[in-house]
Amino acid sequence: MSRKPSERPARLRQLRLDEARREADSCRRCDLWRSATQTVFGAGPVDADVMLVGEQPGDQEDKAGKPFVGPAGRVLEDALQAAGLAATKQYVTNAVKHFKWEPRGKRRIHLKPNPAQLLACQYWLEQEIEFVKPKLVVALGATASPRPARQHGAGVARPWQGIHVTLR
Ligand code: SF4
Repeated sequence: MSRKPSERPARLRQLRLDEARREADSCRRCDLWRSATQTVFGAGPVDADVMLVGEQPGDQEDKAGKPFVGPAGRVLEDALQAAGLAATKQYVTNAVKHFKWEPRGKRRIHLKPNPAQLLACQYWLEQEIEFVKPKLVVALGATASPRPARQHGAGVARPWQGIHVTLR
C-alpha cells in the first residue's frame, strides 16, 4: 500500500527534497536563470509546521544562494518575533527561485516575475510543499501565493493540496 507524502518518514522526504534542490540548480523552465547568479531554493526543516513563501530572491539572496537573508529577511524576523512565532519550525522559500532584475546605474533593481515565470516555477514550490507537507503555507504577498489562494484575497485560509494556504 502506498503512503501519502505526509506519512512518509522525514528521512525519505528529506532525500526527495534534497534531490529537488539539486535538480533546481540547473533548471531552465523559464528564462530567469540567464541573468541570476544561482538558484535560490527554500531552506528549513523538512518537518516544519509553517511554510513562508516570498515572491522571489532579492539581490543579497541571489549572491548568497539562500532565501530571506537580505532586508526582507530582517523584516520577516521582526514580524515573527512580534507574532510570537520565532520559535516555530519554519521552512522559508520563494514562489520564483531566480532573481529577476534590471540594471540601474550600479544597482540591480528587482522586477516582478510575470505570470508565465510564476507558473513555470510553481513546479518547484509544489515539490517543496509535497515533501515538507506543512500544516500552513503563508504567502507573503499576492505574487507569492499559489493561484487558488490568490483568487480569494488576503487573510482567507484556503485548502490547497491538502494544506491551508493564507495570503498576507
Ligand atoms: S525561475 Fe524557477 S522555473 Fe525559472 S529557471 Fe529559475 S528555477 Fe526554473
